[in-house]
Amino acid sequence: MRLRNITGSREMIAENEYVIHAPEKKKGEWQSVFQASAPIRLEIGMGKGRFLMAQAALHPEYNYLGIEKYSSVLLRALQKMEEKPLENLRFIRMDAEYITDVFVEGEIDRIYLNFSDPWPKDRHAKRRLPSRQFLERYDAILKKDGIIEFKTDNRGLFDFAVEEIAGSGWKIDALTYDLHHDPQMLEGNIMTEYEERFSAQGNPICKYIISRKSAP
Ligand code: SAM
Repeated sequence: MRLRNITGSREMIAENEYVIHAPEKKKGEWQSVFQASAPIRLEIGMGKGRFLMAQAALHPEYNYLGIEKYSSVLLRALQKMEEKPLENLRFIRMDAEYITDVFVEGEIDRIYLNFSDPWPKDRHAKRRLPSRQFLERYDAILKKDGIIEFKTDNRGLFDFAVEEIAGSGWKIDALTYDLHHDPQMLEGNIMTEYEERFSAQGNPICKYIISRKSAP
């Protein structure tokens, strides 16, 4: 995503009411940041927040958190929130590598990974958000029967993500290599910014839903 260097974005975010500052201090107490108590769903690498804003508006019965590494990108989401505030949506500016410092076991109801950065070089594989290293982190924060939903148009990244499931504690519950032509998996689909852009270019969208093998 471009827009990484908007001057002053870090300062603007530091003062913003929709961003949870010092998120590690909320560990185990995330319900307290929302007006109503509800299961918390998390998008990691939320970009400009289009997906989360649509989800939060459509599902007031859930609370939503978005994690984004770059201030300049997050700022775009904050500008949209100011136009149309949502009580069940808040943001965190952080590198998802440290999510286990921020959430306790079982604190998260569902995780969304949408169009995650591919990190094409092999030596960077562990930085990919659906890598086994990240799956271990998700295992530490997701409730026992929680699910992870992953969408991308990048077939190489998707194949890698599917391979990471083999031999792990996770199982694939649903998978498609062409989401927009799969009526069952498409039901209730909310387009992300990248999904809109890449599907308009004719790229098929891959999606999986995974859960733990030992889930009740
Ligand atoms: N999810 C959005 C969508 O589908 O339109 C944005 C996709 S964009 C390709 C990936 C986003 O993930 C970028 O904004 C990037 O900064 C963010 N990101 C990548 N790695 C991250 C990490 N380790 N922690 C937090 N955000 C990350």
